[in-house]
Amino acid sequence: MSTSRRAFLATVPAVTLAGAASLAGQTKETAAPAVRNSSFDPWVEFHGANLRHNVEEIRRRVSGRPILAVIKNNGYGLGVVNAARALEPLPAVAGLAVVKLHEAMALRDAGIRIPVLLMGPTDDRELEGAIRRDITPMVYTPVGPLLDRIAAGRQQAVALHVCVDTGIGRVGVPYRQAAPLIRELAGRKSVNVRGVMMTFTEDPDFDREQLQRFTSLCDGLQHDGLELGRRHAASSFALFQRPDAFLDMVRPGMAVFGVYSEQEFRNAGVLDLRPAMALRARVIYVKQLQAGESAGYNRAYVAKAPVWLATLPVGHADGLPRDAAKGARVRIKGALYPIVASVSASHTIVEIGAERRVEVGDVATYFDWTDGSRPEDFGAACKASVYDLTMHLNPLLPRRAV
Ligand SMILES: *Cc1c(COP(=O)(O)O)cnc(C)c1O
Repeated sequence: MSTSRRAFLATVPAVTLAGAASLAGQTKETAAPAVRNSSFDPWVEFHGANLRHNVEEIRRRVSGRPILAVIKNNGYGLGVVNAARALEPLPAVAGLAVVKLHEAMALRDAGIRIPVLLMGPTDDRELEGAIRRDITPMVYTPVGPLLDRIAAGRQQAVALHVCVDTGIGRVGVPYRQAAPLIRELAGRKSVNVRGVMMTFTEDPDFDREQLQRFTSLCDGLQHDGLELGRRHAASSFALFQRPDAFLDMVRPGMAVFGVYSEQEFRNAGVLDLRPAMALRARVIYVKQLQAGESAGYNRAYVAKAPVWLATLPVGHADGLPRDAAKGARVRIKGALYPIVASVSASHTIVEIGAERRVEVGDVATYFDWTDGSRPEDFGAACKASVYDLTMHLNPLLPRRAV
């Protein structure tokens, strides 16, 4: 997509969620006339059609199983509410999952009504508050008596998912102790077990063992007539590698946002993913250095011959990996230019070459959905994982829908 065709529809502050403008409904038809942005602040773009395409792709891959879309950590950089608003209308999306309580609350504050699974910790009061907002907790400790009290107060059973640790050693009841806990919880009138879940280590051989631990646990409980709701385990990684782990629901994050979590998945022909995010900024300064002149702290770059440099207003405080200056390139007017010197808090310096090919105000793309500039390409050039690249985008950067 050429930048000139881009219509700026909305600027959505990602953290001031209460004031976030509605992305839903702001389609190209209903939005106010496209405003040409002239700010020199960098911005994150959100490509809703690509997001919807990815959900369709995942749905096809998992033969129509429901998708619990993980949108934690500020919606993988796009804004947790933006992501939720785009996903909520899609029938394939059975619910949303986040890790932090404040994000779950932000979704309810924003009017999101589909199920929200909170995969992070809460204290007793927070748990009650979350349940009151219809947030589904993930539990793995003996919280039964507390749930009795909460359920009595609402006169309604508490819906929850139980997290089982089959070997990741992070959170979850250890699988050997899981059966008694699940029986204890499921046996209470105050509890409605809607799901049982686990997380893979993503070590292919051990994943098989983990899945075996999980399915034999679930089989045993179901054999005894326990209602476990939906069993789910598959993150993006398993979508590619483990059809046997699709179970009753899948739980991807990165794939929903159109980014391949592993380079080897890109040409595997399993899923056609299209990135839903872009990071762009405008050139703020163009100058020529003479041979021997330098740019950046510690004179990190020294011109060998006369050379044109462009300065961009994006730095590590915006989430740009510091190693972007060790091989990553930005695209300006269709050409790729290397980031040089060092990435400072708020600036990037780009080497344009012997001729002045760019001007102040030109749009520069760090990454978007174009081959060669995809987040996977940019991340690899910075030796940063795509998780770091997307989730570290400063939440205060404006988010714009395209
Ligand atoms: C982040 C996360 C996911 C999604 O992982 P992706 O690799 O982004 O698909 C799934 N489950 C849990 C528990 C997570 O924390």
